[in-house]
Amino acid sequence: MQKDASAQIDLEDATQIFLEAFQKWTDADCGDGKHPRIKVVNLGPVACNVHEYNKKAGNANVILFHDKVWPHAGAGSTLALTTVTYNVETGEIYDADMELNGANVEFTTGIDNVLYDLPSIAAHETGHFLGMSHSADGTATMFADYMPGSMELRSLENDDIDGICAAYPPGDPIPAECDPTPRRGFETECSPPPIVAEDGSCCATAPGSPRSAGTSALAALALALGLAAKRRAVRARP
Ligand SMILES: [Zn+2]
Repeated sequence: MQKDASAQIDLEDATQIFLEAFQKWTDADCGDGKHPRIKVVNLGPVACNVHEYNKKAGNANVILFHDKVWPHAGAGSTLALTTVTYNVETGEIYDADMELNGANVEFTTGIDNVLYDLPSIAAHETGHFLGMSHSADGTATMFADYMPGSMELRSLENDDIDGICAAYPPGDPIPAECDPTPRRGFETECSPPPIVAEDGSCCATAPGSPRSAGTSALAALALALGLAAKRRAVRARP
């Protein structure tokens, strides 16, 4: 989490809401008591308050609120935006950042007088963070539109569960040495200076360098959660 969180919701509460949102995805039931083979680790608050991916320096996969000005298009209709940077050949995710529109959106967190339900929005955006795209299924949490006042997106539906289980199929336990450090190190400041290799050759293996280390082109995919233009399909409840 970005350390300032929002005037609407403090760092502690925001952290808890997003931890719970990620847990919905990691706890998804893939059948036979198995779960998606992915682990989410909170490395602590981050100072940088913009979305960025540094090709030659450390990074953070950050969740941040824009309280003053929404810096993207659609300020009046966009609730949140998650940008995922990935290798277009392998699909490996290099960086993910989530931005929430605190400047134009009044978030609520409880179950009474719901306006823009942050736990619902968090469930949707954490799906993007893990690589999920939008679903055409109107009942899915990954459907692209949100109806104000709704808490429907809080729970994953079959389409969401099918998706995350296909993307991260269950398998052997995740080894203890699995390292959650972002690419080129965990960096909480914005745009840090490039990492210089010990032999003085800067960044020889940085992704984006021509064919170095077998890497290839990057792409950034930004996916927004917007206001629903029409009613969502009625979700079947268990
Ligand atoms: Zn979305």
